Amino acid sequence: MLRVAVVGSGPSGCYTAQTLVQRDPGVCVDVLDRLPCPYGLVRYGVAPDHEKIKSLQGSLRAVLEHERVRFLGGVRVGGPGGLPVERLRELYHAVVYCVGAATDRRLGIPGEELPGSWSATDFVAWYSAHPDAADAGFLRGVRSAVVIGVGNVAVDVTRMLVRGAAELRPTDIPQAALDALAASGIAEVHMVGRRGPAQARFTTKELRELGALPGTDVTVDPADLALDPADPTALPAVQRRNLEVLRDWAARPPADTARRIGLRFFLRPVELLADGGRVGAVRFERTAPDGYGGVTGTGRFEDVPAQLVLRSVGYRGVPLDGLPFDAASGTVPNTAGRVVRDGVPCPAEYVAGWIKRGPTGVIGTNRPCAKETVTTLLADAPALLARQLPEDPVTALRAAGAEPVPWAGWQAIERAEAALGARLGRSVVKLADWDALLTAARSA
Ligand code: NAP
Repeated sequence: MLRVAVVGSGPSGCYTAQTLVQRDPGVCVDVLDRLPCPYGLVRYGVAPDHEKIKSLQGSLRAVLEHERVRFLGGVRVGGPGGLPVERLRELYHAVVYCVGAATDRRLGIPGEELPGSWSATDFVAWYSAHPDAADAGFLRGVRSAVVIGVGNVAVDVTRMLVRGAAELRPTDIPQAALDALAASGIAEVHMVGRRGPAQARFTTKELRELGALPGTDVTVDPADLALDPADPTALPAVQRRNLEVLRDWAARPPADTARRIGLRFFLRPVELLADGGRVGAVRFERTAPDGYGGVTGTGRFEDVPAQLVLRSVGYRGVPLDGLPFDAASGTVPNTAGRVVRDGVPCPAEYVAGWIKRGPTGVIGTNRPCAKETVTTLLADAPALLARQLPEDPVTALRAAGAEPVPWAGWQAIERAEAALGARLGRSVVKLADWDALLTAARSA
């Protein structure tokens, strides 16, 4: 049997495990995750009100319950206290790193670290009940928020900021986040792009959702649309449809609603301004299209008041000790998924997902990406099989200080979340801290 470790149980890890066992009956796979819970960004990134996308967990579950796949949660690979990459390599014929892009890109402007300025990923982690997320009082005293960036994460956090409790209560959002959002006095969210509407990265379905939120008006400045030189007929379909939606909104008279989302374009953030020791506004420079899809500064500035700033300018991969890393792209150098070290391919080490190709694409993009990596790995398999392995890697993991949470442990967490929901008069409610998760897991 070819024994493979997949590190990370998000979509890329699950699709990698699935393709491995489907393509070769002689492969068994351990899927390791540092959390006791599987599914990566499907559990800890997809917004709670996107229940259809979250239902994808059903098909990922089938992969992790396959007879030749084993889930081992609570196992950290690399980093302080984690299992060294070199040790993991000794326990398996091959290791596939599917560790995603764990941090956020920085703006690199003054004031970025002011209290009240957060990366969108911090906010997402909080409302998704990630056990490492802190309850940072994101919404306390906030009337106006600025979301910097116009990708799908920006749309998610903008929508979550104005969603009402009635719409969130049926979801699995943790109770503390639900209570905080329900009590929030937020009236305005400005979602701001540095380039024009035709260069926005969000997709049309996600954009349209903003216009369907109860009690919330969406405004678009017609001047921003007029400034965009793009010929709509020459644009790809998504951008063309985005512009149609934005034009409709720009043409509507403002509605008298409790909350408002303002979509702004051609504004480049240059500084976060303090007010009373925390963020009070964002200073933007007005930009103008350069005719090539980029923008140039105009030297004119505009301050947008905000007691909360969410920087939603993309994710970034994090280096793993013992693996090569390209800091510019935030990825592990590879050819068709095989890790390349100092220009030399390393059979036995592979990557898939965002750590392989960067943080772009939707969940489904991970399928062909995983397939490519598995094709590479299986081509190496005859040589990899020549190496003798120790008996069961779990014994070695325990000896190295890890205490793997098996699938039954995860199932116990699921039962605990259902029981918590029942106690609160809701459906399933996520457990949001390490203690609660591990206590539930160990009860199995
Ligand atoms: P993204 O799509 O790359 O968008 C990043 C945004 O940040 C862009 O508008 C970008 O503008 C802007 N930006 C970057 N650097 C900036 C700077 N220094 N100053 C101002 N703006 C800056 O990233 P994302 O929204 O994090 O999404 C990551 C991936 O996950 C995407 O593929 C996305 O589609 C996917 N996702 C999908 C869903 C869904 O399907 N529902 C939900 C969430 C995420 P420029 O274009 O000018 O660089």
